[in-house]
Amino acid sequence: MVENKITWKNFVLGLVHEFCDEIGKRTFTLREFYSACEGDIRKFSPKNHHPFDKVRQQLQFLRNDGLIQFLDGRGTYTLLGVDLLRGEVEDEKILEVNKRSPEKREYLIETYARNRGWVKEAKDKFGFACLYPECSNAFKKPDKTPYIEVHHIISLHDGGEDAIWNLAVVCAHHHKMAHFADLFTKRRVNGILADSVARCLESH
Ligand SMILES: [Zn+2]
Ligand SMILES: [Zn+2]
Repeated sequence: MVENKITWKNFVLGLVHEFCDEIGKRTFTLREFYSACEGDIRKFSPKNHHPFDKVRQQLQFLRNDGLIQFLDGRGTYTLLGVDLLRGEVEDEKILEVNKRSPEKREYLIETYARNRGWVKEAKDKFGFACLYPECSNAFKKPDKTPYIEVHHIISLHDGGEDAIWNLAVVCAHHHKMAHFADLFTKRRVNGILADSVARCLESH
């Protein structure tokens, strides 16, 4: 045995992070993950005859540690505790400044996120009008496209995922409320947004 050898668990966790960075989202299936990383996995332990089972077992350990979450019984996982994947924001310097305030950081990540992955999905599905009922805070940017922000109803920080049912499109005002109002108001706003999202998804 070599001392200081990286453990299977840490190896798999590192791979999951790299993989999520690569695909630009936190939710993935075991099959996707395994087929993308099989080469690295076999190289890590050439003598292991059941690398697929070994990886699945390590994902279970990571779940027990609260680092990933199982979304169903059929091999869909979400990486937890990572609010920023490579390439998700335009201005990383702004985020550096706010490392100590998770809520503010999360708001800025959402506000400065690029038009990819979950941001694009939410805009495609919900359009560009704030989902808060009767809201008319819309305005257009200089290029004439409507300004809208994307919000995670359960924050990534609290283990929410970038799945469509957890995303809302909101104006800047209601987005700020959802993050920075008093606890009671925050819960109310997020509850109302969750209802709007559910209604939208039903009617599609
Ligand atoms: Zn938000
Ligand atoms: Zn609004």
